Amino acid sequence: MKNVLFATLAGFMAGCSNPISPTVDTSKERFPGELQSVVNFLREDSWRHPLLGGMSLAEYVEKHVAQAVYDPAVAKAGFGAYVLPGDPVLRWSPQHNIANTGMEGIAGSLLHEARHFDGFPTHECGHRDCSMAEGGAYAVQILYLEHRGLMDVAAGLRRDAIGRW
Ligand SMILES: [Zn+2]
Repeated sequence: MKNVLFATLAGFMAGCSNPISPTVDTSKERFPGELQSVVNFLREDSWRHPLLGGMSLAEYVEKHVAQAVYDPAVAKAGFGAYVLPGDPVLRWSPQHNIANTGMEGIAGSLLHEARHFDGFPTHECGHRDCSMAEGGAYAVQILYLEHRGLMDVAAGLRRDAIGRW
């Protein structure tokens, strides 16, 4: 009886890999490589971000990111990480890492991408958020960076990633 059940599940899993309707492969590590250490870093921070509905930073990421994967196509497209519309998987460039960007930088990116799964699937103004007030992915990232004292990085994003063209 158990074998029949397993075969049924295995068949279901195979269907899940259909790229037209991608779903989460739960056999993989949810946060691969150093991304788990970034989640752990967020867990040590008791600050309550004003845009995250009272959740802790790590709770927010864990609630909204069902699966992260390293994907070299992300770097080829010129990004550090992205979420594709309708795809529950967060795609991360291997080059977007703690060694290059720092723990807080990667943590800020992870919060940014988590926001995309929480009602802000795209940026309202192309590659920008139109305003801080909309509370999109960049707003979440910027407020986090300011909380961590990365004022120059946050100021750069306020200048380059917020506002209409
Ligand atoms: Zn984004």
